[in-house]
Amino acid sequence: MAASKVDPIIAEYGKPNKKVYRTILRAIERYDKIAIFRHIKPDFDAMGTQMGLYYWLKGNYPNKEIHFLGDNHVSFTPRLFPETENLPESWFKENKFLAIIVDVGDEERIADPRWKKAAYKVKIDHHPCKKEIAKKATLCDLSMAAAAELCVDFLLNCKGKVMPPIAAENFYIGLVGDSGRFLYSSTSPHSFAVASALIATGIDISSIYKKMYEKDIDSLKSLAYVLANFKVSPHGVAYYLLPKEAQEELHITPELGKEHVNTFSNVRGINAWCSITEDPNPKDYCWRISIRSKEKDISGIANKWEGGGHAQASGAKIKDLTKLDEFIADLDALFA
Ligand code: AMP
Repeated sequence: MAASKVDPIIAEYGKPNKKVYRTILRAIERYDKIAIFRHIKPDFDAMGTQMGLYYWLKGNYPNKEIHFLGDNHVSFTPRLFPETENLPESWFKENKFLAIIVDVGDEERIADPRWKKAAYKVKIDHHPCKKEIAKKATLCDLSMAAAAELCVDFLLNCKGKVMPPIAAENFYIGLVGDSGRFLYSSTSPHSFAVASALIATGIDISSIYKKMYEKDIDSLKSLAYVLANFKVSPHGVAYYLLPKEAQEELHITPELGKEHVNTFSNVRGINAWCSITEDPNPKDYCWRISIRSKEKDISGIANKWEGGGHAQASGAKIKDLTKLDEFIADLDALFA
């Protein structure tokens, strides 16, 4: 499909920070070599924003050298996104490049440490962060449902540029992923305006949903395990554990096990829900927790438990199961 022009219709909904937009656009124009980074354990938004920006840059600056970095996803690559490029160490030494870091707050969560070698750094994100890594060129808006939503707002405000449909498709995946298919309370008129601008490029959203949410039979078996083994705390925190042995038996990884977390999203009496998966290769924290919440802000609890994230979707970690009851009690107390 040919690239098509989209009017920057969304400026009236958002509050675009025009000064930062100009700074970032100038940085993009200045560098011939650009590498795009995202967070570890990528999700739809991290990969969709990264690849959307990659295709946008390729479409608008065909003479620039653009790369994308970070670990692959267990089921999204290569089904939904291309496998990550294997750039040699020498590339980073020899080239003056621009690093664009998307969908990640703190530096320890950036999937490839070589962003540090960049001559200039830009960040586009919607997470709270403890220490800023791109002081002069950070575009961060916590009110955005997805990093993709913010990135598209910026790109549609770049005059004279086009939004190639392949870029729109990737951004749409990011937006749908992090807004929970427009169900989370972070979804706003601005989110729909961005969705509308992306759909206007001619993308086929039904084929996108099919690619995003298609399941295989093994995943039904692991769902059956989750449904047979979940527990609910006194004030409505549902959670399930996936120990290593269960993952082996079900032929799943922790990432695949986590994908069942939203099974509990629309159940009366359940206020928050978690997947708690054992990491087969732990450094020190053995259990990774994905926390989701219907209404209350769970990010404070995630912060307390070595994690962070958003009001309705956060991540945390515990070293071993002796801490499980304490963690669940903390979360449960939010709803008492
Ligand atoms: P997850 O449950 O891993 O899908 O994460 C949900 C959200 O919380 C995502 O936006 C993550 O980027 C964020 N998140 C997960 N783990 C952490 C962490 N350890 N520190 C900060 N943010 C996190």
